[in-house]
Amino acid sequence: MTRVAFLGLGHMGLPMALNLAKAGHEVIGFDVVPAAIDAARAGGLVVADAGTDAAASADVVITMFPSGRHVIDAYRDGLLAATAPGTLFIDCSTIAVDEARDAHALAEAAGHRSLDAPVSGGVVGAENATLAFMVGGSDEHFEAARPLLEAMGRRVVRCGGAGLGQAAKVCNNMILAVSQIAVAEAFVLGERLGLSHQALFDVASNASGQCWALTTNCPVPGPVPTSPANRDYQPGFAGALMSKDLGLAEQAIDLTGVDARMGLLAREIYKEFADGAGAGQDFSGIITTIRAESRG
Ligand code: NAD
Repeated sequence: MTRVAFLGLGHMGLPMALNLAKAGHEVIGFDVVPAAIDAARAGGLVVADAGTDAAASADVVITMFPSGRHVIDAYRDGLLAATAPGTLFIDCSTIAVDEARDAHALAEAAGHRSLDAPVSGGVVGAENATLAFMVGGSDEHFEAARPLLEAMGRRVVRCGGAGLGQAAKVCNNMILAVSQIAVAEAFVLGERLGLSHQALFDVASNASGQCWALTTNCPVPGPVPTSPANRDYQPGFAGALMSKDLGLAEQAIDLTGVDARMGLLAREIYKEFADGAGAGQDFSGIITTIRAESRG
């Protein structure tokens, strides 16, 4: 049994914290928003009056915040100072690679251990403890965290040193964005050429066009009955979150100088989508924009 402070009890954090408690760990939660605290209490989680109170007696502090700024601010504004030296800080938020490295450096300078451990799998994965964790940090700290991460997820991969969990997340989501756009463009092109959705699916899903964006998140209704297209693009993975993650990809591309034109174009396309009607839709809904913007 480990004493865990779980900070950030939003869409992802609360079900993750509840799974840790269910696995027998002593979990104390905190969120800055009173409604999140109320929901946590109603869900049976023990909650503290402040993040620093929750962290003070914890062996492990897990954060699940909206952005890197929240993580760095919380670390600086008392969290690191409130905990005993050697506390293991695990940041599960999706943040920029350089912010993750800053967070590691701050934690280590304060005498603590640190991992970046962003997730994929969404709210359903958080609820069912089937998340995938991508972890950056030392092997020793990874092994210490593994039982906790395994209580919240199904797949736990160490990607390398500080920040490389976030690097894996940003690279994966850039592939996903580009491939979802490519699949959507292909379906609209097929429509214009008189090709049925099912025929294109039957060919591409068994040929070299095969990918997750086609076989799981198929952007047209019919071929994959569980895809968001069959429920009017209810997420799934919302356009706003894809746009956020591509913003982090853009930062990483700027930082490294990589010639990632497809990634940058996907960033532009999803930013427009999320600034408009797509923020709350599944990101596969980009097909409706492609259709609307097509000539004729
Ligand atoms: P959310 O906005 O629902 O939850 C974040 C919570 O953090 C909020 O309740 C907020 O009040 C709280 N918070 C902020 N600063 C805090 C502080 N200093 N102390 C305590 N609580 C604080 O967001 P979410 O959907 O749960 O996502 C969390 C992270 O996970 C994000 O970085 C997101 O990009 C990533 N993520 C989300 C999904 C998803 O499907 N929602 C999937 C993968 C990754």
